[in-house]
Amino acid sequence: MDNSLVSDNHGGIVAAAGMREPSGTGRFGDYGGQFVPESLVPACVELDREFRQAWADPRFRQQLERLLAVYAGRPTAMTPAWRLSAELGITLLLKREDLAHTGSHKINNVLGQALLARRMGKTRLIAETGAGQHGVATATAAALLGMSATVFMGERDIERQALNVFRMGMLGAEVVPVGSGSRTLKDACNEAMRHWVGAVDEAHYCIGSVMGPHPYPWMVREFQRVIGDEARAQCAAELTAGTPDYVVACVGGGSNAAGTFAGFVDTPARLIGVEAEGGAAMTFGANGVLHGYRSKFLQDEHGQVREAHSISAGLDYPGVGPEHAHLADLGRARYVTVSDEEVLDAVNRLCRAEGIFCALESAHALAWVLRAAGSAELPTGSTVMLTLSGRGDKDMPALMEAS
Ligand SMILES: *Cc1c(COP(=O)(O)O)cnc(C)c1O
Repeated sequence: MDNSLVSDNHGGIVAAAGMREPSGTGRFGDYGGQFVPESLVPACVELDREFRQAWADPRFRQQLERLLAVYAGRPTAMTPAWRLSAELGITLLLKREDLAHTGSHKINNVLGQALLARRMGKTRLIAETGAGQHGVATATAAALLGMSATVFMGERDIERQALNVFRMGMLGAEVVPVGSGSRTLKDACNEAMRHWVGAVDEAHYCIGSVMGPHPYPWMVREFQRVIGDEARAQCAAELTAGTPDYVVACVGGGSNAAGTFAGFVDTPARLIGVEAEGGAAMTFGANGVLHGYRSKFLQDEHGQVREAHSISAGLDYPGVGPEHAHLADLGRARYVTVSDEEVLDAVNRLCRAEGIFCALESAHALAWVLRAAGSAELPTGSTVMLTLSGRGDKDMPALMEAS
């Protein structure tokens, strides 16, 4: 990765001309890498080579662009939040990933990986899922491309997310319950990776965020940068200055944020990632290695990875993508946390003010804007581009319980 520093419009040396290719075997500064069992090294090396070739191949790009347009519904809209802007004294623009097929940004990455897998001659997709959103997106892409899908899911998550388990079944995917450990996402990741070792020849492991061994964090960011690239062009049309003062996105593993930031990293915009208080690996995590990469993870006093807890299942992952840890080290992006209470309030305010029912995950980004607007952190008159990562239908049961 090119870490050369560039100066921003304020005259200070603050920004890295970053978010290019990672160096070596996927290093983003001190983070990333490829910490996998020897039996998986050839598969990671093959994937790196195949992704590089595909990404440089105009025909692959055209295939993916066409699917994103005629199937996934891209470009997604950029909606000015008229009434909230007036209430808050800022200009707030919403990048509407909630309008993409299957209801979130996850489809961007999954269509990219499924097309790549087919190009590599694979016939099956393996995935892990926590809340079920990535499982549903993977099952969808598999159905579209005539592949089979095996989705690993913790037993506890299967109980909590019955609707998405049923949806995956409808789409023809096999859901495999994982009964080890805490029986949640972390254990499903372990199991999916173990299963991949025995099935590398026919199966591609479709990871759902900017995590895992190289090339995944880089590849997933590249598949998600369509969010940032579209948003950059849409901001140029919507804003007098052409680029926003702030770019805000929620961070679970960090894929919608990474894709968004990629479109603005070379502008003066301040990049803000918003984590759930109970799953804030960037804020409360320590350096460690898990699931094939080095990054920040929530850990107990013995260095054991702790479970994350928040109101939104999609942010309940104890780690964060390595590039985010690097962007924070460089001072190029800032990471903040919000509480479950603030998130519920943000969902309600967006519903009432704009008629948009967003996902609990996405509401984290908005919750920070609601708190910070008018303070020195986010002064009155600022322009803000916020990625609304998904829609809230899936959260109806949780909201009914909380109300
Ligand atoms: C999965 C999910 C997230 C969290 O994943 P990232 O990789 O951090 O983007 C955020 N929002 C929605 C709607 C999701 O489904």
